[in-house]
Amino acid sequence: MSKDCIFCKIIKGDIPTDKIYEDENVVAFNDINPKSPTHILVVPKKHVASLNEVKPDDMNMILHVFDAIKKITAKQGIAEDGYRVIVNTNRASGQEVFHIHFHIMGGRQLGGMG
Ligand code: AMP
Ligand code: ZN
Repeated sequence: MSKDCIFCKIIKGDIPTDKIYEDENVVAFNDINPKSPTHILVVPKKHVASLNEVKPDDMNMILHVFDAIKKITAKQGIAEDGYRVIVNTNRASGQEVFHIHFHIMGGRQLGGMG
């Protein structure tokens, strides 16, 4: 828990959100500014600022995230067509919230990565 972190506040329930999935390790909610018909953020409950700060002991957390992504995308009906998972990391990526999170984007044909 980090005092000024918006995602920690969402996890604690201090800021209301459109929660669509929660288990012991992660929470997922709709992005407030969606860039695709389905745009969900999967957020580990443990506060880690970015991928750069993930330690070997946190690897289980990453597995939990991908397990949640599989469940969420299946339930949202986008698994079959396909989707993208994005983890912005630090300044050059445009990371805005420094609590690691995984964007799930789908529901439309996504552009190439070029
Ligand atoms: P990033 O650039 O990877 O740090 O993305 C942060 C994302 O968090 C952006 O897509 C924002 O739209 C989203 N976001 C910020 N505040 C909230 C909030 N209160 N509820 C839902 N999504 C949020
Ligand atoms: Zn946090």
